[in-house]
Amino acid sequence: MNLILLNHDDFVTGDRVRITGRRLEQVRSVHRAAPGDELTVGMIGGRIGTGTIIRLGDSSLDMTLSLDRDPPAPLPLTVILSLPRPKVMRRVLYSLTVLGVKRIILIHAARVEKSYWQTPFLQNDAIRAQLLHGLEQSRDTVLPEVVQRSRFKPFAEDELPALVRGSVPLVAHPPAGSPCPRSVSGPVTLAVGPEGGFVPYEIDLFRKAGFQPVTLGSRILNVETAVPSLIARIA
Ligand code: SAH
Repeated sequence: MNLILLNHDDFVTGDRVRITGRRLEQVRSVHRAAPGDELTVGMIGGRIGTGTIIRLGDSSLDMTLSLDRDPPAPLPLTVILSLPRPKVMRRVLYSLTVLGVKRIILIHAARVEKSYWQTPFLQNDAIRAQLLHGLEQSRDTVLPEVVQRSRFKPFAEDELPALVRGSVPLVAHPPAGSPCPRSVSGPVTLAVGPEGGFVPYEIDLFRKAGFQPVTLGSRILNVETAVPSLIARIA
C-alpha cells in the first residue's frame, strides 16, 4: 500500500483522521510505523498529501493531514473489455486502475461464457475493493467508473456511436491488418476481446461504430498481457 485512502467518515476533527481495521493493519505490517512518522495519504476523489501519526493505539491510529497536491493525471482512455473469467477480470480491473484508466466498460461477446456474469466479483462492493487496491498501489484517489453491459448488440448499436465521440476508437484484434498506433494524442477508446477473440460479426459492428481493428503482431497475447501492452503502446 503506497497510499492510505481516506474518506469523510475517517475525520474526528477538522484536520485529524482516525483509521482502524485493514488500513491500520497495513500500516502496522507494511510500514512498521511509529508516532511522528509520515505516511502518504489521499482523500477518495480528492487530493493527496502527508499524514503525520500522532497516536498509535491497539485498534486505531490518529493522523494529522496536509493534503497539498493533486493525484496523478488520468489516462484519456476508455477501455471496453469483453468480460474475462472472474480471476482474470479482477486482476485486469486492478491493472487498469493502476495504469490510470478511469472508464471501464465490461461487455458480453459471443465467446464470453454466460456464467461469468454470475460471479460475485461483479457485485459493486467486490469491484470497489479491487479498484481501491489499484488506487493504493498507484497513489491515486480517483475511482474508475465501471459499467456492465451483458448484451452485445444493443450496446454496440445504441451506445457505442455516442461513447466514442471525440476519441480515436480502436479494437484490438490479432488478425487485423494495421499495427496498433503508438503514443496517440488525445482520447482513445480501446476494445479488447475475450480469450477466444471477437467473432467477425462483432468486428463488423465495431467497424460500423468507427473502430479500426489494430494488432500488436502475430503473437497471441492472453488478455492480462494484452491489456497493459496495448495501453503502453497507445498512451
Ligand atoms: N483466439 C484469438 C485471440 C484472442 S486473445 C485469436 O486467435 O484471434 C484475447 C484478446 O486480446 C484479443 O481479442 C485482443 O483484443 C487482445 N489481443 C491478444 N493478442 C493481441 C495481439 N497480438 N494484437 C492485438 N490484440 C491482441
